[in-house]
Amino acid sequence: MKKHQLAALPQIETLLQDPGVEKYIENLGRPVVAELARSVVDGVRRSVLKGDSEVPPFSEVLERLLAECGVIGKEKLQKVINATGIIIHTNMGRAPILREVWREAEEINCSYSNLEFDLKTGKRGKRKGLIPLLVSRLVGSEDALIVNNNAAAVFLILQTFARDREVIVNRGEQVQIGGGFRIPEILQQSGARLVEIGTTNISTREDYLSAFSDETAMILSVHRSNFAIRGFTDSPTVRELARIRPDTVLLCVDQGSGVIDEALPGEISVRTHLHDGADLVCFSGDKVLGGPQAGIIVGRKVLIAKLERHPLMRVFRPGKAVYSLLEAGLVRRLNGQNSMVAETLVLSMRELKSRGRKILQGIDRSKASVVESTLTSGGGSAPDESFPSLSVQINIGRKADTILRALRNADPPIIGIISEDRVQLNLATIQPEDIPRIRAELQNLLGG
Ligand SMILES: *Cc1c(COP(=O)(O)O)cnc(C)c1O
Repeated sequence: MKKHQLAALPQIETLLQDPGVEKYIENLGRPVVAELARSVVDGVRRSVLKGDSEVPPFSEVLERLLAECGVIGKEKLQKVINATGIIIHTNMGRAPILREVWREAEEINCSYSNLEFDLKTGKRGKRKGLIPLLVSRLVGSEDALIVNNNAAAVFLILQTFARDREVIVNRGEQVQIGGGFRIPEILQQSGARLVEIGTTNISTREDYLSAFSDETAMILSVHRSNFAIRGFTDSPTVRELARIRPDTVLLCVDQGSGVIDEALPGEISVRTHLHDGADLVCFSGDKVLGGPQAGIIVGRKVLIAKLERHPLMRVFRPGKAVYSLLEAGLVRRLNGQNSMVAETLVLSMRELKSRGRKILQGIDRSKASVVESTLTSGGGSAPDESFPSLSVQINIGRKADTILRALRNADPPIIGIISEDRVQLNLATIQPEDIPRIRAELQNLLGG
């Protein structure tokens, strides 16, 4: 029997005192790490009892625990370096919030605030601050309303104005956005009845005209955020739809991307949709606008007021973090600050080359070099467009997958892409303050 050996098993407490483990305690919480330690030691105990192995040395048990902590640690939210060349990356938190905006919002979030307190009357106030005013100035609307995300915005609009009634949607716009937001399903969930018109590639004014009935509540026009239809294709514009719809039919546009004034081919701005006659337009706050996760609904005052009074508003309303970040970002935007997408798109080749030079300092150019590549806006905008850019390409013999993984294991993780079997790190989407980290990691990987 191996039982006498079990006395040599490390104590949980001793493992937890190791400096490497202590770092994980700080990062993951003591009970989580303690549980991992117990499960590692239990595993060792079982295999000793079965006679599969001797009790391993302390260092080996510690190694196993650190590895387990490392695996869990990867699931924790953390900063990553986006070197993919996709500016608004849906899997990487979409738009980074401007650091100045974050700092401005800190005081409001870490203190009490007037979120729902009217400083003029000393009574309960409305949870919206200056946002309706600021958004309206930015996009040229009568009023605005904020919900948790754009999916909620679409749902609230449908619930409020189209429940038990008909909503006309072009077949070419019955899209799925990201993981599971499908227009026909959202419509069904909201209690509205979908009336499909046209075909995938072509829809006409006549298609819409013949679909109007007493039951029609609205036309919903949905932006093709993540795909493009090319070739033999046509559909009426929002302006045309505004002209042909009966007065009783609302024209709502799920614009999605939140393009305001960015030069993105194929994107129609929120302002243009309103100007062209849309009654309501909704879009995400954390795509091209560059704010926190939110859904923004803009349009006619009477309609916004009705949305505000819907009981579901209580379900969809964001908290102070969203309001404060959005407000601070909007003020800056109105004062001339460009969105991150706009700023990234206008980076000059010279700036990108300079970033590349800094990253490759001290690295043998046969192992990595700056190459031409492309940049996309992402985040449900300009799905069919790419812009010229530069990337650092790694040219060593090791498999691209292996290099990509090594970079992903860096701290912070560096997320690149593989292009023609070579790992590339796009120089436009990285943030300049990360250049030293990237250089250090490449030096580590490639040697001098
Ligand atoms: C992104 C997008 C949505 C979903 O917005 P979320 O903010 O992710 O909820 C809906 N419709 C369109 C057209 C989009 O581009």
